[in-house]
Amino acid sequence: MAEQFGFPTEEEAARVEELRALINQARHDYYVNDAPTLSDAAYDSLERELRDLEERFPLLATDDSPTCTVGGSASSSFASVEHAVRMYSLDNAMDLDELDAWLQRTREAAGRPLRYCCELKIDGSSIALTYHHGVLTRAATRGDGTTGEDVTENIRQVADVPAELEPICGAWAFDKPIELRGEVFMPRSSFRQLNAQIARENDAIKERNAQIELGEISGRRAALKKPFANCRNAAAGSLRQKDASITAERGLSTFVYAVADAAQLPVSSQHELLGWLRDAGFSVNPNIRTVDTEEEVRAFCQHALELRDSLGYDIDGVVVKVDEFALQAELGFTAKAPRWAIAFKFPPEEKTTILRSVAVQVGRTGACTPVAEFDPTVVDGSVVSRATLHNYDELARKDVRIGDTIIIHKAGDVIPEVVGAIPELRPAGALPVQAPTACPSCGSPLHRDGAFLRCESAECPAQAAERLEHWVSRGALDIDGMGPKVIEALAAAGKLRDVVDYYALREDELAQLKRGEETNADGSERVLGAKNAAKIIAQINASKEQPFSSVLFGLGIRNIGKTTAEALAKAFGSIDALMETGVDALCQVDGIGEVVAQSVVDFFAVDANRQLVERLRQAGLQMEADLSDAKPQTLAGLTFVLTGSLERYDRTTAEGLLKEYGAKCSGSVSKKTSYVVAGPGAGSKLAKAQSLGVPVLDEEALVAIIETGQLPAE
Ligand code: NAD
Repeated sequence: MAEQFGFPTEEEAARVEELRALINQARHDYYVNDAPTLSDAAYDSLERELRDLEERFPLLATDDSPTCTVGGSASSSFASVEHAVRMYSLDNAMDLDELDAWLQRTREAAGRPLRYCCELKIDGSSIALTYHHGVLTRAATRGDGTTGEDVTENIRQVADVPAELEPICGAWAFDKPIELRGEVFMPRSSFRQLNAQIARENDAIKERNAQIELGEISGRRAALKKPFANCRNAAAGSLRQKDASITAERGLSTFVYAVADAAQLPVSSQHELLGWLRDAGFSVNPNIRTVDTEEEVRAFCQHALELRDSLGYDIDGVVVKVDEFALQAELGFTAKAPRWAIAFKFPPEEKTTILRSVAVQVGRTGACTPVAEFDPTVVDGSVVSRATLHNYDELARKDVRIGDTIIIHKAGDVIPEVVGAIPELRPAGALPVQAPTACPSCGSPLHRDGAFLRCESAECPAQAAERLEHWVSRGALDIDGMGPKVIEALAAAGKLRDVVDYYALREDELAQLKRGEETNADGSERVLGAKNAAKIIAQINASKEQPFSSVLFGLGIRNIGKTTAEALAKAFGSIDALMETGVDALCQVDGIGEVVAQSVVDFFAVDANRQLVERLRQAGLQMEADLSDAKPQTLAGLTFVLTGSLERYDRTTAEGLLKEYGAKCSGSVSKKTSYVVAGPGAGSKLAKAQSLGVPVLDEEALVAIIETGQLPAE
């Protein structure tokens, strides 16, 4: 009987498109910006969901799906390097069952028991090193696996990469260049030093900015530097510096573990290769085990997990490789990864602790969030004692109770989160946590709003405090020195009822502001002081020069983040235009859907909010966008879908450039699509465009549109 393939529903097809868009965005944040926005575990789960859907519905599979492509792209800041032999990613095993499945597959494909080489999976950035006649001639990043970035000068600054190979390895006699591959990583000690240095530089920047604002020196305020989230991002960012002398200061290291063309070397297995690399002068990781049984593979994974914390560098798993090269060649590759290797990924670090209470946090829009409070616990290197439970539905689903032993981890490697409770360890009589019925700050009844409980009171002090804090935060009006304690003291003194009051603060009053209960050594009251007051007032005055998008974000409209505020400021140009607009016009702006549009309309429908805007205008805040270098919105109202590979730009960049002219970009083709841009390898989207009669453009036409902002002549 012929194999039956299911037909996807519209919902499943849409989910595939959505997953691809999400994954491509996450890849861009991770590989290009070195600033991931998802945890690795969340990313892996999205990729897995997509792979499962594509396997169930082969009709939905395309060549350019992230399941078939290696993540990353070569930035145009570096010369590009075509890899003579493609650089692959690795398939993942997320647990021991998946590892077993891979062991079984490879054993069956080989038809006999295998020998495996087990290595640590170094959490850094892939690198290809070319040597000719024993001398380093080029270094390249993986990029998209076909084209990488030329980082030769940067790699020359990494101390353990040999400029010349040891004569003993015989590589001097090779006619052809040889390409060795490995991982550039940042040791944990270098990472700590780098972030400490960034913190020191930020202190100096803050000091200088304050002097500029006080008129003590002239110059422009500088932006603060962002610390790196983890060793991997720090390594990737440090390697891809335009100025190689910066790379030199970053203390990078390498481990080398592969060769592009094994036939060039006098070795026939992975473990022999590692020995050759060591002899040639490369840094080779010492934690390697060549094993003959699957039991030993599993034991090595356990051993690596125990080793993890004691190493001076980050690892995120174990790489298990079929040892014999002849067998590797037989097993071959999928579109994305070798079949002869698997990455066994470590689970994110989880810790247990005791739940002491569940607090209610009132946000600036009145959303009440349950927050778990527990015994202080070290997770991934920092002490945490509070973690979000997101909302009361989530709390009920997880059923964590006071006194429970709970499991916590860091989502996105940063935000602590409660995974769940261990019911076996529940104390007798522990009752489920009840959702509050009244606001803990003002006592108003709470209303259900989707998954959230919301305090609707316009007078709620907790919301007011959150709004005041939001206004001064970095993405908004960026008023340094106006911390929660100062805000609280000002609010208590009746000097701060809403954000306009910031602009009426007097320096002498601020200088005399009591710092809570703190006292000086002689028992006298501690006050803010003249110097601090002068700095804060200078910052408040400087905030009047912040762009309109920051003011818009600062207003704290529900669902309006920084990026949305920027898009709205650009699309409407002024608060007056925005206040008069309706849901339909708002939905025309790329990235804005009905929910967000309705939030904007609702906000400006409230009289008090319109009055607030007027008072802020009187206080001198920017209510118009500076559109002097904005592009004309010649593509407004048009929707583009980009598919297939592009040579000139990566897809995200091309989409960004189209959006600058007001276009919308979508991941799926429908009757509403204005144009499909199809590069080589385009599959189902191209077919769909043709069947719907949507005009199809090639990359040349796309480049012309991006350069001129005009559509091609009919
Ligand atoms: P990968 O990092 O999972 O594995 C492949 C890489 O492992 C190789 O390219 C190589 O550089 C490296 N490696 C380290 N030690 C090795 C060894 N001993 N032998 C062989 N290779 C070794 O794959 P990837 O394609 O670079 O990235 C995919 C992964 O990156 C995802 O699974 C996810 O965890 C993460 N990611 C996260 C996000 C996010 O938003 N958080 C986005 C994209 C990718």
